[in-house]
Amino acid sequence: MKVLVAVKRVIDYNVKVRVKADQSGVELANVKMAMNPFDEIAVEEAVRLKEAGIATEVVAISCGATHCQEQLRTALALGADRAILVETDAAQTENLQSLAVAKLLKAVCDKEQPQLVILGKQAIDDDANQTGQMLAALLGWPQATFASKVVVADGKTTVTREIDGGLETLSIRLPAVVTTDLRLNEPRYATLPNIMKAKKKPMDVLKSAELGVDIAPRLATLKVVEPAKRQAGIKVADVAELVAKLKNEAKVI
Ligand code: AMP
Repeated sequence: MKVLVAVKRVIDYNVKVRVKADQSGVELANVKMAMNPFDEIAVEEAVRLKEAGIATEVVAISCGATHCQEQLRTALALGADRAILVETDAAQTENLQSLAVAKLLKAVCDKEQPQLVILGKQAIDDDANQTGQMLAALLGWPQATFASKVVVADGKTTVTREIDGGLETLSIRLPAVVTTDLRLNEPRYATLPNIMKAKKKPMDVLKSAELGVDIAPRLATLKVVEPAKRQAGIKVADVAELVAKLKNEAKVI
């Protein structure tokens, strides 16, 4: 069984994100980039399926600029067998939206014919939480999002999903799309020997234009602003003062 894993290059989660002065987006120049954390979980799950003898090949795929090869190399060091970069030009990369990525991933799925596609539940840069759902719709495949457990057997996958009220377990037939939640697994670290081996693993580069899909943006960003600063807190002398403030000022009790 072939497993395709989507890997997005995003701002590293440790970086304090700064909004550009013209409010057109966030500052990306000289900022540390990394693999989207939910995609690390997706790669880990695919590699575990391979180690369990269920998957035969794990293919990592990223859509974006040439730099995305860095995150694909990381996926290869974590255990993916090969990688595909769907390269977009600078203007397209700047405004590559979920629908466009879903269309590019669909075109690659048509070629590669995987049985399972694993994506992160959301990318931590735009928090869209859309690509997996859109991909499943475009492919006409079943989907199980927010997975905290994935079992593959007998041409089906049984997925435990994290939902508001608790957990839901779905059984869906393959081929299918699964998106990862935080508790699915704990990704391993890439070891130095595996980082070295990853340099020799195959990486195909496809130009997005070769896939013949329309990736023009459908949404316009009007402006990006920083969240409002939190007001400083105050100290109260005793419980009576706290209760009085909650009652008369905050009006929450
Ligand atoms: P989003 O819908 O943007 O929140 O992203 C959800 C997931 O879709 C991510 O965790 C990735 O697995 C995948 N994805 C989104 N954008 C890309 C991209 N440019 N290249 C590869 N995978 C992506």
